[in-house]
Amino acid sequence: MTSVEAYHGAGALLRKFKGRIITANSADYGSARSVWNRDADRYPLAIAQPSDVEDVIAAVRFARDADLPTSVRCGGHSYQGHSTCDRGLVIDLSTAMGCVRLDQSCNLVRAEGGALLGAVDRATVPAGRVVPAGIVSHTGLGGLSLGGGIGYLSRSFGLTCDQFQRLQLVTAAGELVRVSESENPDLFWALRGGGGNFGIVTQFDLRTHPLGPVQAGPLIYSMDNAIDVLQAIEALMAEAPRELSLTIALAIKPRAIGLGDAFPATARLLSVYIVYRGHADEEIVTAVRTCRRPLFDLVKPSNFLTVQARLDKVSQHGVAWYMKSGHSQTLNAGLIERMVVSSMEYQRIASPEVEREVYSIQSLGGATSDLSEDATAYSGRKAQWHCAVEVGFKSQEERERIVDWTKESWAKTQRFLDMRTSYVNMNFEESARALESVYGTEKLARLQRIKAVYDPDNFFRLNTNILPSSHLG
Ligand SMILES: Cc1cc2nc3c(=O)[nH]c(=O)nc-3n(C[C@H](O)[C@H](O)[C@H](O)COP(=O)(O)OP(=O)(O)OC[C@H]3O[C@@H](n4cnc5c(N)ncnc54)[C@H](O)[C@@H]3O)c2cc1C
Repeated sequence: MTSVEAYHGAGALLRKFKGRIITANSADYGSARSVWNRDADRYPLAIAQPSDVEDVIAAVRFARDADLPTSVRCGGHSYQGHSTCDRGLVIDLSTAMGCVRLDQSCNLVRAEGGALLGAVDRATVPAGRVVPAGIVSHTGLGGLSLGGGIGYLSRSFGLTCDQFQRLQLVTAAGELVRVSESENPDLFWALRGGGGNFGIVTQFDLRTHPLGPVQAGPLIYSMDNAIDVLQAIEALMAEAPRELSLTIALAIKPRAIGLGDAFPATARLLSVYIVYRGHADEEIVTAVRTCRRPLFDLVKPSNFLTVQARLDKVSQHGVAWYMKSGHSQTLNAGLIERMVVSSMEYQRIASPEVEREVYSIQSLGGATSDLSEDATAYSGRKAQWHCAVEVGFKSQEERERIVDWTKESWAKTQRFLDMRTSYVNMNFEESARALESVYGTEKLARLQRIKAVYDPDNFFRLNTNILPSSHLG
């Protein structure tokens, strides 16, 4: 398309589009172009904020005809900055397509494609229902669920993508299609883990589950005892019911968890955050709380909305981040020791301004392992643990030092993981090899074939990109 044709195309889009279109001349261009990871500092030509499905279709058709690089945004949390771009179009669903409604029976919740996790929780939790999702409430349902969706209730109810009942999606051809077990089932398989490669989901219908009482809070230990504590916990979790979930953070600063007055600033702590769906006096809760004596036991009956928002502030927008992660069936002795050593080693090079821990471990298993490995594009169903290293930095000088350290440190850690799969939403590398490590060879080939059907020109490429099989040599 010539620039004159593109100009006319833009005119036609502006006439049709009911939402907002923000360009470099708009007063709020700066805030509209920015995403969670400050390291993704990019300058799109325009940010289109659709108000409904027709707007999404108009934006897709315009960008495709004008051959513009196009990124899709929900919560803007992609670590790699996939929801922004240079000299292209951002289709930002988060501003006017974020509604969430619980249906009358409470068994399903309907969310627009730009909904944040907090909106899903607010629509469900007060009614005693819940959709298992992530642990920071300003994360987008769109990116999180299409990649999988891991959180405190994954062991209880499965991944977020396992709750999909039916989706509506705008394809690269600008057509609206329905997707479920019985409508476009190949696409339904791909959307449960394959990310934003296949189109823009404008509507999610998700199954909800009963919530009941929740016990939640951290057990705090000294990092000096971390190896012993983690080994005890690994043994307990092997037999634990699926109602119990643990989120472990290594070498955290006391100030970051509100214990600044109780410890010297140089102290580093191990936090084992419990979420248990049930009552405080149940055997497994006592067993975790007493298997090793914590410095602080802050587990208490909790409102799940508060639990879901507890990390919102330490995970705020505007810091630059880098991360790596992988699955494991065991927290074996070598893995535990390596993560403990690395997280303490990091203290020597850490950015003084970034409060978050560096190594973390999330329990998996339970309902996440109920589906067979080939049931969805998401891979790693046998994993009992998700291990991650996540580093923040504030300047370019820090970036080089810290990212180099992270790559080295992760290479040493990865050797101890007993699985090869990793989670697409929590990895930076995007080479063909990295994609194989996410999906495995066979599943990647299936995803490439489905991509060739629904997006043969690879219009949706600003994501962890699966090339259409027709593009492969
Ligand atoms: C602070 C923080 C906490 C996190 N916590 C968790 C967690 O607890 N559990 C977990 O599993 N992950 C977690 N993640 C990782 C998270 O799942 C990914 O970063 C995910 O991509 C975020 O989705 P988003 O919609 O916010 O991101 P965006 O940057 O808006 O989008 C990410 C990708 O998804 C695509 N996409 C988004 N919406 C749509 C849509 N409607 N249709 C089609 N494609 C779409 C985009 O094109 C892009 O490629 C966390 C990330 C951060 C930064």
